[in-house]
Amino acid sequence: MNVRYLTGLASSNAAVLLPADGPAVLATDSRYSGTAATLCPDIETVIERGVEAVLARLAAERGSRTLAFEAHEMTVERHDDLSRLDERPRWLVPLGRVVEELRAVKDDDEIRLIERACEVTGEAFTSVLHLLRPLTTEREVAVAIERAMVDLGAEAPAFDTIVAAGPNGAIPHHTPGNRPIASGDLVTIDCGARLGGYHADMTRTVTVGEPASWQREIYELVARAQAAGVVAATPGAKLADVDASARDLIEGAGHGGHFGHGLGHGVGLEIHEAPSIGQDKPGTLTERAAITIEPGIYVPGAGGVRIEDTLVVRAGNGAAGEARSLTTVTRELLVL
Ligand code: ZN
Ligand code: ZN
Repeated sequence: MNVRYLTGLASSNAAVLLPADGPAVLATDSRYSGTAATLCPDIETVIERGVEAVLARLAAERGSRTLAFEAHEMTVERHDDLSRLDERPRWLVPLGRVVEELRAVKDDDEIRLIERACEVTGEAFTSVLHLLRPLTTEREVAVAIERAMVDLGAEAPAFDTIVAAGPNGAIPHHTPGNRPIASGDLVTIDCGARLGGYHADMTRTVTVGEPASWQREIYELVARAQAAGVVAATPGAKLADVDASARDLIEGAGHGGHFGHGLGHGVGLEIHEAPSIGQDKPGTLTERAAITIEPGIYVPGAGGVRIEDTLVVRAGNGAAGEARSLTTVTRELLVL
């Protein structure tokens, strides 16, 4: 994804050499040569299957003594291959997540694509609400949402849609199965569209039939926690503090043990990218970060609630400084 971010080329085999001074060089194989020529005509391009080796040789030829590589992307095997090259810069050092940090801050075009993906997601979600009734299966709902997203202009679903009904709602990443929805179920739907390479991510939990008091109680608690997380998501806020703003409410109500995952994550060219918002995460939020805020409560054997929006962090005071939600489907409990 970093190659795509830097050059525009989406492929399964490419690497970029970024000299400290001088222009970038792209390497990819013959399957992508035509696309590379069209998408990035201004970038020097080398066509060869072994993209890392060819760029390492080129770096040495052009006088580089140190070559930094993305340790979180490179396998041990490919690193061994690179180390054994005769011609390469002398020092191989890990670069860290420099490009991911750049990617966390979205420009206007990126925000527009995410916003459009979120619109499609919301429309698709709304268009299948009539299916949420007894006897429809989780799978039928998931397939209908994915179909609707593509019909509405998505290039693909951003990830496998989650539909979790009744007790399955206690499993945060439940795979939709043949369980028919039953009256009295909480149904959690986590879905997103992908558009122009950019992802949307939204979760809503609805009830089919009148909710029991425990269902309404955990729904309202998650909704309050989600709103608190959104308010806390300001530029410069510590990621751990944003997480705590929502988690403290859930813990205070005695459900701390039912909220096992982090509060949110960055969204962009990948469905999960920097920053990761969790209890033990270092770092702070930046202006123009696209993130999710998605607290949940999962009660084993009974069911669960999660509410998730995709938002853009923005500067300013008061309401003007509140993160802008790109997913706009109501957060009120929908009783179907
Ligand atoms: Zn999600
Ligand atoms: Zn998410």
